[in-house]
Amino acid sequence: MKIFSPKINQKLTAVKVVYWAMLIYMIAALFWWFIALVKQNDTLVAVQLQQITQKPGTTVIPKQTAEQLLKMQSRKRVQYIAEGLTFLALILIGAVYVFRATRRQIRASVQQQNFMMAVTHELKTPIAVTQLNLETLQKRKLEPAQQDKMIASTLQEANRLNMLCDNILLASQLDGKAYQESRIENNLSDLVEGCIDTFKQHYPLRLVTEQIEPTLYLDGETLLLQMLVNNLLENAHKYAPQDTEIKVILAAYGKHVKLEVMDSGKGIPDTEKSKIFEKFYRIGSEATRNTKGTGLGLYLCKKIAENHNANISVTDNKPQGSIFVVTFNS
Ligand code: ADP
Repeated sequence: MKIFSPKINQKLTAVKVVYWAMLIYMIAALFWWFIALVKQNDTLVAVQLQQITQKPGTTVIPKQTAEQLLKMQSRKRVQYIAEGLTFLALILIGAVYVFRATRRQIRASVQQQNFMMAVTHELKTPIAVTQLNLETLQKRKLEPAQQDKMIASTLQEANRLNMLCDNILLASQLDGKAYQESRIENNLSDLVEGCIDTFKQHYPLRLVTEQIEPTLYLDGETLLLQMLVNNLLENAHKYAPQDTEIKVILAAYGKHVKLEVMDSGKGIPDTEKSKIFEKFYRIGSEATRNTKGTGLGLYLCKKIAENHNANISVTDNKPQGSIFVVTFNS
C-alpha cells in the first residue's frame, strides 16, 4: 500500500478535480455542438422547403427536390455523428494518455522523494556511527572486548555504506546503459560460498546454513552476481529477526541452476510480491517504516537476473518468511 503525505494528497486531489472538470467540459461541449449542428441542419432544410413553396406558382414541392433535400439532411447528420464520434474517441484516448502520464509522473516524483529521504538517512547514519565510534576509541581507553565490539560495528556501518554506494552507482549505470560488461566463466558455487563467508564475517551472530552443489559454472559478470547474492542475503538479514535462520540453497535442476535464499521473517503479502522489484519501491511508507533501505536492492537483483538470462521471484516460506528464487537458464 502506498501512503502519500497530506501535502501530496492535496495536490493529487487538486489535479484530479481540474482533470475531471476539463474532461467533462470537453465532452459536454462536444455534445452541445453536435445538437446545435443537427438543429441548424434541420432548420436549414425546413427554410429551403419553405422558400420553395413561397415561390410564385408553386403550391406543391416537387417530389425530387424534397427527396434531395431530405437526403442532404440525413447525409449531414451522418457526417456530424461520424465527426462527433471521432472527436470523442480522440478526446478519450488523449484523456487516458494524460491520466496515465500524470499518474506515472506523480508516482515517480513521490518515489524519488522517498528515495532522497531514505538515502540521506542511510548516508547519515553510518557516518554518524563511525564518527562516534572512532571518537570514543580515540578518547577513551577501552577493554579489548569493548574495543573489538566497536570496531566490528564500525566495519558493519562501513560495509553498509559501501553497499549503498555500489547499489546507487550500479543502478545509474544500468539505467543509463553505461555499464562496461566483462563476462567470464564463473564458478557460481564458489562465488555464492564466498558471499556467504563474507556475510558471516559481517554478521557473526547470524545463523546461516547452506547447501551448495559444488562446481556449478555460469557465464556472467562476477561483480554483478556477487551483488545479486549480497542483496538477497542483506534483505534476509534485515527483514527477519536476528535469532532466526537464513538458508541458502544452490542446485542444478536439469538445464537450470536455482539459487534460493530463505528467511523466517514476516514474509511479503501477495499484493506486494510483484511490486517489490520496482525501482525505489518499499513496502509501507517512509513515515511508518523502521527498517533502513532505499528500494534499490531488489530492482538491481531483477536487472542483474535479466542480464544473466535468469528470472527472480519470491514465494512464501513455511511456516513463515520469504524465499527468493533466482533461476538461471543455460
Ligand atoms: P530496501 O531493502 O532498500 O527497502 P529492496 O529493493 O531490497 O529495498 O526491497 C524492497 C522491499 O521489499 C523492502 O522495502 C521490503 O519491504 C521488501 N523485502 C525485501 N526483501 C524482503 C524479505 N526478505 N522479507 C520481507 N520483506 C522484504
